[in-house]
Amino acid sequence: MATAITVKNPLVEMDGDEMTRIIWRLIKEKLILPFLDIDLRYYDLGMAHRDETDDRVTVEAANAIKEFGVGVKCATITPNAARVKEYHLRQEWKSPNGTIRSILDGTVFRKPIIIRNIPPLIRKWKKPIIIARHAYGDIYKNTELVVEGPGTAEIVLASAEGGEKKTFVIHDFRGPGVVMGMHNTETSVRSFARSCINYALTEKVDIWFGAKDTISKQYHGFFRDIFAEEVERSKDALERAGSRYRYLLIDDAVAQVIKSEGGMLWACMNYDGDVMSDMVATAFGSLGLMTSVLVSPDGKYEFEAAHGTVMRHYYEHRKGNPTSTNSIASIFAWTGALARRGEMDSTPGVTGFAKALEDIVVRTVENGVMTKDLMLIADPAVGNFALTEEFIDAVAAGLREWRETEER
Ligand code: NAP
Ligand code: MG
Repeated sequence: MATAITVKNPLVEMDGDEMTRIIWRLIKEKLILPFLDIDLRYYDLGMAHRDETDDRVTVEAANAIKEFGVGVKCATITPNAARVKEYHLRQEWKSPNGTIRSILDGTVFRKPIIIRNIPPLIRKWKKPIIIARHAYGDIYKNTELVVEGPGTAEIVLASAEGGEKKTFVIHDFRGPGVVMGMHNTETSVRSFARSCINYALTEKVDIWFGAKDTISKQYHGFFRDIFAEEVERSKDALERAGSRYRYLLIDDAVAQVIKSEGGMLWACMNYDGDVMSDMVATAFGSLGLMTSVLVSPDGKYEFEAAHGTVMRHYYEHRKGNPTSTNSIASIFAWTGALARRGEMDSTPGVTGFAKALEDIVVRTVENGVMTKDLMLIADPAVGNFALTEEFIDAVAAGLREWRETEER
């Protein structure tokens, strides 16, 4: 009789919406529960339940991650006006990811899954390029306005300690134009740098940080200096992990990344991370192969797929049509969380299970079983694609085989 592997401490599970909610249940029932004896602390972040609880469930889930250290999250709807109508919401609730991120004060790392027969568009890339996006401030928390006609735009700083106000002229407008003010904080940049260092230490990768300090001597220079200070403070640990730090001009970083074999953590300022993560994800193949983890400066982890709820596929599914939705990034959210849980609990059996499940997923695709998004880019080409559930069933069969050999 097969015995389940015991997971020592609880794992926070956050359910979500639409097609990914369907996939979530399949993963849990076919790939997780038959193999693990696990205490899942379940939070339903599905749109209806967030609305019923005035979104308190999201805050409770984030607090649970703080308590237990590791969570795994399904993709969720961020409502807009259309969604408010579609789901009869009482209000346009905030993005759950934004809420969780602000409670954990974390940095998001996006890492592609490398599979031999799904070659990246950049032929030289052999290893994952992990992007860390500093998700606070800059243009995302700006004040901006259109200038209607001639006038002077200034920055004024009134110190809380009193004294004279400092005023700097941004521009003397002779006619219409536009102006923007933005900021960042030392605390936020420092915790960003620290999260990146934590990540590089566990994953044993180099850190590249790019900014434009030649042009923005104060603003970008501030980021560069704080990063350098934090790296200096962790110099010994980084050296032991074999992880090197490189500062580059952002345009040089872009060129070097494209020419590289990959394998580095690319730390990006907010806007750069927003843009570059989409470029890197696309170049690695499919959104279905991109994973995402939120790491807080004090070492709490939340894993998820980088893609959304795959709404278009869900609408097909609801009409009763078959779908071929890629579950790999969602499966890797589970394995990432389980591996971390296993490391934190010092339970190699759990870490081993996570590794085995990842290997089986990769091997399944390498054996030619894959969903449609991958079939379109596979090399060598494959003749047909697996439906959503067929792919998960193929992985489940691989897992059962693995367990049999383990127990022999
Ligand atoms: P999406 O779910 O990322 O999907 C966009 C398109 O990308 C899909 O229609 C599909 O293309 C392809 N795709 C993405 N993931 C795939 C997968 N696993 N397998 C196969 N194809 C995949 O974005 P969306 O449909 O624009 O957004 C839907 C909802 O997701 C929105 O309400 C948004 O708020 C939410 N969202 C949530 C998160 C999160 O929770 N982290 C992130 C982003 C978006 P084809 O249709 O061409 O097959
Ligand atoms: Mg983006």
